[in-house]
Amino acid sequence: MPYMNVTEVESALIALAGAHPSICELITLPNPTIEGRTTHAVRLGTQAANTVDAYYLTGGVHAREWGSCEILVNLVTDLCDAYAGGTGVGYGGKYFSAAEVKALIQQINIIIFPCVNPDGRNYSQTTVPLWRKNRDTADSGGDPTKVGIDINRNQNFLWDFNTAFAPAAINVYLASSDPSQDTYHGHATQSEPETQNINYIHDTYTRIRWYVDVHSYSEDILYVWGDDESQYTDTNMNFQNAAYNGQRGVLGGSYKEYLPDGDLGALVGLANAFTKSLAEVRGKLYFAKPGFSLYATSGTNDDYAYSRHFADPSKSNALSFTVEWGTEFQPAWTEMQEIIKDVSAGLIGLGLEALGIDSFIVSNRDTFSSYEVETTLSYPNAFYVMYDGFAPGALGVPGASPTIQFLDGLMERQSARCPQRQPQSLWKIQVLQIPRSESRSPLKWTLPMEARSPQRRGKFTFRRVSLECRISR
Ligand SMILES: [Zn+2]
Repeated sequence: MPYMNVTEVESALIALAGAHPSICELITLPNPTIEGRTTHAVRLGTQAANTVDAYYLTGGVHAREWGSCEILVNLVTDLCDAYAGGTGVGYGGKYFSAAEVKALIQQINIIIFPCVNPDGRNYSQTTVPLWRKNRDTADSGGDPTKVGIDINRNQNFLWDFNTAFAPAAINVYLASSDPSQDTYHGHATQSEPETQNINYIHDTYTRIRWYVDVHSYSEDILYVWGDDESQYTDTNMNFQNAAYNGQRGVLGGSYKEYLPDGDLGALVGLANAFTKSLAEVRGKLYFAKPGFSLYATSGTNDDYAYSRHFADPSKSNALSFTVEWGTEFQPAWTEMQEIIKDVSAGLIGLGLEALGIDSFIVSNRDTFSSYEVETTLSYPNAFYVMYDGFAPGALGVPGASPTIQFLDGLMERQSARCPQRQPQSLWKIQVLQIPRSESRSPLKWTLPMEARSPQRRGKFTFRRVSLECRISR
């Protein structure tokens, strides 16, 4: 499959929703583009909209960053196919179990809008390959060099950059009020149908807790904020406070954007889950860092998504990111196929981290006869058994290495024999991911039925222990 044209992106979504009606709902965005195109998103999940938290992904905002649409269509396809088939999903060295796919589909909604800006994509694919903006002619005065608005500078977040930012911070990366520039932010905030479509989903699906806007390129995942460095001590120093107009956007300056400490920790944890899962595919190392560390920005999708609940506390707190995949806008298709795997794994890893699942979990089993397990979120207390891998021969898994050990400290206060009798102090089980081939069929493995504890030097016969499912937070 080479890069899709804009018709193919939309028809892929329509076909997927048609093939998986119980888990994939087609969303038709209400605002046609300037050239009259209708775009679609899909909502994945068995739970009704707005009854569970949602994970929202957008792509194709910037026309020339072609592969974002492929990444997101691929992700929808893989999740639908895996859930329907009761299998996991594998990308290179990274494998997500059927239980993890099931958890994502059953516990949250995933809303995926792969091609926000089809007019721009079409123009990039047919006429000017490095086109970035949409194709709005309203502010061009008939001059073809002044066509288009940057959909990632058009949002209602410090959009009026000439007022909000320090003069020293103002440059073409931040945003521009010149229609001939690639970062032209439009004549008004949220003026564009593409921007309005992104926000239609924010407004319609009221429990969006995680948002990722997929871009290229730089091999990063950026978390908010993008306008300035962050701080968590002064709640009054924030984007809504006009007293700080003219001061924002300077590295090392006195202004820093307020970011609650707890959110910062969550953002970093989610971004690290992305880079960790991504790295397991083929060893690519993406960086997790604040958006501002690239350069100051105004009116971006990620800052806007996260800012919504500060501006209106009735709105959901959407922890927000921008992914910058790859090292060029339009990689050769053979490389793009690998990037699709990388980023798909990262996005699933982020979703599982959001759910509180960072490992796959063994549930209520008295043997380890099967790799496929159930998950649940209802275990506040738990215990770890670290599976540091087993002999490849024992598992039939290349690259796994042997040992089981119990985490230090837990052995002192837990009974190895009857953990069920102490439901508030059970061991937490953490089964580390074992490298897998890209097989889509569930891999059966049989573990040795005993293991040694380094503390006790005893043997535990797993047949006697009912291993309970635990999620680590
Ligand atoms: Zn971009």
